[in-house]
Amino acid sequence: MNIAATKLDEPKKTCATCQACCCRLEVMLITDTGVPERYIDIDAWGGEVMARLDDGWCAALDRETLLCTIYENRPLICREFEAGEYECLSERKKYLNE
Ligand code: SF4
Ligand code: SF4
Repeated sequence: MNIAATKLDEPKKTCATCQACCCRLEVMLITDTGVPERYIDIDAWGGEVMARLDDGWCAALDRETLLCTIYENRPLICREFEAGEYECLSERKKYLNE
């Protein structure tokens, strides 16, 4: 078996083939990036987090397009989150059964 070819044939883990799985994670606000107040919640320890709705997704996510509606003002944690990293893959596994 040609292992290199098999790896190349694997579908890419990109956001385009996802359903914003990482936007279900708790997102702490550790710097002020201008997130509108209506999207901010206070967690059990008094810290600011992105509010999430009953469906589990962040309140700032557009449910139709699955895109962030506050992209220019998104929290630092969202800016630093990278597709393909451990948490991305584990969220995809949880919600997409990969
Ligand atoms: S970073 Fe990962 S979990 Fe988040 S939308 Fe992209 S592929 Fe999905
Ligand atoms: S702020 Fe935007 S990128 Fe961050 S979790 Fe919410 S919808 Fe996703």
